[in-house]
Amino acid sequence: MEMRKVFNWQLKRRVSYVYPQSRPKKQWAMIFDLNKCIACQTCSLACKTTWTSGKGQEYMFWNNVETKPYGGYPVAWDLGILSKLKAQEWRGDKYFGKTLFEAAEKDEKILQHISEDEDWAYPNIGEDEISGMVNRGDWIATLPHRIWMFYLPRTCAHCTYPACLAACPRKAIYKRPEDGIVLIDQSRCRGYRECVRSCPYKKSMFNVETRISEKCVGCYPKIEQGEMPQCVTNCIGKIRLTGFVSTPDNSRKDNPVDYLIHEKKLALPLYPQFGLEPNIYFIPPIHVPISFQEQMFGPGVGKAVETYKNIRDDQTLKGLLVLFGSFEKILHSFKVDKEHAYGFDEKGREIISVPVTEPIYVRDVFDKNLKAYRLNTP
Ligand code: SF4
Ligand code: SF4
Repeated sequence: MEMRKVFNWQLKRRVSYVYPQSRPKKQWAMIFDLNKCIACQTCSLACKTTWTSGKGQEYMFWNNVETKPYGGYPVAWDLGILSKLKAQEWRGDKYFGKTLFEAAEKDEKILQHISEDEDWAYPNIGEDEISGMVNRGDWIATLPHRIWMFYLPRTCAHCTYPACLAACPRKAIYKRPEDGIVLIDQSRCRGYRECVRSCPYKKSMFNVETRISEKCVGCYPKIEQGEMPQCVTNCIGKIRLTGFVSTPDNSRKDNPVDYLIHEKKLALPLYPQFGLEPNIYFIPPIHVPISFQEQMFGPGVGKAVETYKNIRDDQTLKGLLVLFGSFEKILHSFKVDKEHAYGFDEKGREIISVPVTEPIYVRDVFDKNLKAYRLNTP
């Protein structure tokens, strides 16, 4: 299969892809702070009630939340493709191993792991399972924890080099030039399922009723109104932020997404070695061993964890994380002063301000005016 060369900044090198390089004017991106996710699944339900409540979509979760190390939807989606990809070598922050396009068999476009029907039937397998046995008398006193688990929310990453788009023989999948959202043209799709087989994140899904493929649409009608997607605005843990990510050479310090990804290198892509340049970025959990996380988030994970642990001393970063989940509109820029974090729209108008530290008021036990005690009620 003849391949083109495109630049992948997450791997710091040129990589193989089916089509020539073409970046959108703006690239949709999301950031998830994994230290705050509580697996309440509100995001999954917000998505489901908005987009996938129809026939044939019963087992379709465009947004899912799985528990690592044992969870996965579909079952073992990542283990399947990782074991096929074999050695994944990084030297410093440059990737020297093969990407999925480079490891493709002769006459194939991409290395594939195929999930069977049964793998799609257990969306919450492994949920809340911890990494090992807890000994009697164990307690948590150190970071990372000896026994651990963490929640991994996932949606389509609207990749810069999408495998689904590359694989489609009908050219039914396209990446919007205005915001980088990847969509399946439902009228062109004939349900060949090449996208389902090829997406390594398993975020293109087949509808058995309509006999065509469907995937996360990035809540594009909301994005067009300058609003964040349903999974973001409904997130109980306020772990999510949507914005537009620049390439590293065009990074803007006042762009919240650029700041976390490029300036602080706190938010990292999931399995960047696949070579798709995915546009969902994860702030790694600080209680999970680095050795486990490096394969998922790349070599920058140790530094990111240290940055997060020292966040108390970083007013800008603290302020920016407080802006997560504070507002429905997309923030194009931000600033933080001694007391407040501010978000601005595309025209630079202030649209939100929040205190970096929530004020705490402690009431007297005895209210002198009412001559009454204020006791906690049982
Ligand atoms: S709504 Fe937020 S906190 Fe709840 S599971 Fe989804 S990402 Fe995690
Ligand atoms: S995550 Fe999968 S479905 Fe989404 S754009 Fe990337 S390759 Fe396509």
